[in-house]
Amino acid sequence: MAHGSKRILVIEDERPMAEAVALNLREEGFEVTLAARGDEGLRRALTEPFHLVVLDLMLPGLDGREVCRRLRERSRVPILMLTARDSIEDRVRGLEGGADDYLTKPFSMLELIARVKAHLRREEAQAEAVQEEAYSAAGVALDVARHQVTRDGQPVDLRPREFELLRVLLANRGRVIPRDRLLELVWGDDDYLDSGTLDVHIRWLRLKLEDDPRRPRRILTLRGVGYKFAEA
Ligand code: CA
Repeated sequence: MAHGSKRILVIEDERPMAEAVALNLREEGFEVTLAARGDEGLRRALTEPFHLVVLDLMLPGLDGREVCRRLRERSRVPILMLTARDSIEDRVRGLEGGADDYLTKPFSMLELIARVKAHLRREEAQAEAVQEEAYSAAGVALDVARHQVTRDGQPVDLRPREFELLRVLLANRGRVIPRDRLLELVWGDDDYLDSGTLDVHIRWLRLKLEDDPRRPRRILTLRGVGYKFAEA
């Protein structure tokens, strides 16, 4: 697996720990961003595209569990929680709060790297698996196998890139998808792509799918962050 483009956010206030984690992840080829406060980490996680978040439980600014809960409300990025405490109760609460995994300090860096890779592989496998499915939300239905889209039961003609963009939006309906993530999922690793391409395709989709494209109620813009498809 090529990690060159995989971005990981590490939210950890203990500097030696943060630096050790960052060093080891960078040696594996990941791009690492550090945040030393819970509130700062949450803000970055919500406004920048990351493939995975390593989140310490005890943090200044905002507790790790609260960061996890708020992040989970708006994102499904994998969250690997770190904690010094090792009680069943803490693990259960962390996982209930939306963390995907839990690692208790002290842990080995090999263990951390192995877990990070496992979660990223699972994300990729899920992204591929959803290709076979059908989706519907807010009166729009998309059937991947038949390559058909309907709006309020009427067929809609989409070009291939519009179809793929709509598929990604519908697969994540109700959740904000950052602009960079959408570009990567729909256009791949095209370094020369103008991000305005995304807005143009969103405009075309709205013309075909919205009752009033100037006041969209299906494809919503979160200014400075990304787009989301309405859940109902
Ligand atoms: Ca801490």
